[in-house]
Amino acid sequence: MHKNPLFNPQGDDTVANRSIIKGNCTGLFNLNDVKYSWAKSMYQVMVGNFWVPEKVGGLADDAIMYKSLTANEQRAYKGIISFLTFLDSIQTVNLPSYAEYITSSEVNLLISIQAFQEAIHSQSYTTILETVIEAREREEIYYFWRDDEVLLHRNTYIGQIYQDFKDFPSDENFFRSLIANYLLESLYFYNGFAFFDTLVYHSKMTATGRMIGYIRRDELTHVTLFANILKEIRKEFPEMFNEQIVYDMFATAVDQEITWTDHILGNSIPGINEETTTQYTRWLANQRLERLHMDPLYPEVVSTPYAHLEKIQDTNSEKTNFFESTVVNYTQSSSMNGSWDF
Ligand code: ZN
Ligand code: ZN
Repeated sequence: MHKNPLFNPQGDDTVANRSIIKGNCTGLFNLNDVKYSWAKSMYQVMVGNFWVPEKVGGLADDAIMYKSLTANEQRAYKGIISFLTFLDSIQTVNLPSYAEYITSSEVNLLISIQAFQEAIHSQSYTTILETVIEAREREEIYYFWRDDEVLLHRNTYIGQIYQDFKDFPSDENFFRSLIANYLLESLYFYNGFAFFDTLVYHSKMTATGRMIGYIRRDELTHVTLFANILKEIRKEFPEMFNEQIVYDMFATAVDQEITWTDHILGNSIPGINEETTTQYTRWLANQRLERLHMDPLYPEVVSTPYAHLEKIQDTNSEKTNFFESTVVNYTQSSSMNGSWDF
């Protein structure tokens, strides 16, 4: 892969000659001339989603409620937050590396906003830990993977794919890194989210649930952003888009997600068990593949076992499936004008 110079006076930013990668851009952000019109609409949505965890109220109530959770629920709460903290940490530091190879300023603009949002997500876990969890337990959560081999294995697997691209920036490693990023954004977060939704469904830890709602709303724009990048690559560089790699990586990610979720939630949380986790993860994988215009990996799985959770989370009456839409009433400004998915 060719790395963009920071400033390239010989570059050509004209829309007709622009490509998603491997272009010859100057490095300047000329955002008036846009080739990828979805990026313009996404900018509005992502900026409109702005929020800060310090303004989300009610965590003091969660601190009281936390003490009445079962031991299994407390372990799950801590383990899931540990995994989410890892995901947002690695996203914050890894995302800028894509901008070194993407040759569209309108898309790089969005990646910068995404990196900012991942940093806010890290701050939101800090806020939760500060308010809900006793100081002596915080380190245990940040470094859960030190004593938990399943989590260590997961974190290492994700980190290694990103690291491989940084160390050996070949076309294939770039593509693998993009798919890993897409899986992280679109699959890895969601069993954790389902756990928090389930607590809220039982009127538990509702402030944490609200915070997770904000995070999820951001993550869903990241899913769309990387689905769009991948679809542009498929259009412009079809030889790079290797469906077999996508299917193989999806299958591995699904298996790991199920193993981890069973390990940390098992059959100990009412409403979640090994069967629902398997069905949900496979269903989600099919949905995410469809976003890339690919056939399902698990055609026998056609529904989610967590339909009841969609209803409690989806407060926007026009959208019935919150997993695929933006939950709009969380905040002041949410502009959804224009088509931001294609
Ligand atoms: Zn995030
Ligand atoms: Zn994200």
